[in-house]
Amino acid sequence: MLVRGVFLARNLTLHRHALTGPRAKVRVRSVKRLDRRALLAMGSAALPTALAGCLRERGSVMSQGAQGDAARVIVPRPLAEVVPSERVTEGAGFVVRRPFPTMRRAMADPFLLLDHLGPVVYGPGQAMGAPDHPHRGFETISYLLDGEIEHEDSRGNVGRLHPGDLQWMTAGQGIAHSEMPGRRLRERGGRVHGFQIWVNLPASQKWVAPGYQDLRAAAVPLAERPDGARVRVIAGRLYGVEGAVRTRTPVSLAHVTLARGARFAEALPDDHATAFFYVIEGRGVFGAERREAREGDMVSFAAAQTGHLLAEQQGAQALELLLLGARPLREPVARYGPFVMNTSDEIAQAFSDYRAGRLGRITRRIADTEG
Ligand code: FE
Repeated sequence: MLVRGVFLARNLTLHRHALTGPRAKVRVRSVKRLDRRALLAMGSAALPTALAGCLRERGSVMSQGAQGDAARVIVPRPLAEVVPSERVTEGAGFVVRRPFPTMRRAMADPFLLLDHLGPVVYGPGQAMGAPDHPHRGFETISYLLDGEIEHEDSRGNVGRLHPGDLQWMTAGQGIAHSEMPGRRLRERGGRVHGFQIWVNLPASQKWVAPGYQDLRAAAVPLAERPDGARVRVIAGRLYGVEGAVRTRTPVSLAHVTLARGARFAEALPDDHATAFFYVIEGRGVFGAERREAREGDMVSFAAAQTGHLLAEQQGAQALELLLLGARPLREPVARYGPFVMNTSDEIAQAFSDYRAGRLGRITRRIADTEG
């Protein structure tokens, strides 16, 4: 059966719906209102079983399809809340927007931190970074949209991130590193825009050896949809496209671009009780509730329910989103500064290990040349 157009059933009312399909033998157009019995009778006789099932279970269903797009039954996942970011000074003194951790929200298990840097244009000598500092017990993700970051660590790794590149670093048992703007950016200034995301590791993996997954922009798989969504799939599986990063617990991460009039509708795996969008740029409406959110807002979905995450672009500007989802670890979290463990004793141990040099020290290797 093919389902074309968009239809939404809520309170047993069908809006703007059009069903066609030779096998289903259904031809219903522009029906404004159906009562529950008629709808379910249609369901048993002709509507796809899944759709009828959704109607019975939830009393609300939205489905969409497009030319060339196989039928999809879409059950919206309810929204939980829209949380605005706070502005926080980080590293050597740069300002980031941060939806969590804040006084209002400690984390989004297993995500510990989301920092949005910029977009900002630095003048010559103004660009700042995060000089040498340690991490233990979790993973850090750096995703750069504009600018250049030089990365160097205590295990002798060096690297540069350019626009569209991503680095997924597993700190595990411990590492010391620096994340600094590239030389050209420091000297001449320029535009910087990027993200830092921290993902917790389960207790069983906090002591794994440090490691990296570096992704050049061209290596991030892209899912392009007929409904106008462009999805760079970093981790997890979305629209049938597998992300390039291997995660230690189930995590989904994607960069979603919705051009004017475009929409996003995709479900995460059933165990992803944590699911939210972060609005990078533009504005849109989210969920079947059509709650509005704009740049800097975090839009989180109900933890206890599955279903499709809905987003629709609004206004003149494209809507840029980060999509984050995961199976929560549900473990005790003890965190202080750059260390995230399960107990306060482990945090004290991390500080004493760092002071004793057991997390390593950086021996400068980056030649101070153009990247
Ligand atoms: Fe760091």
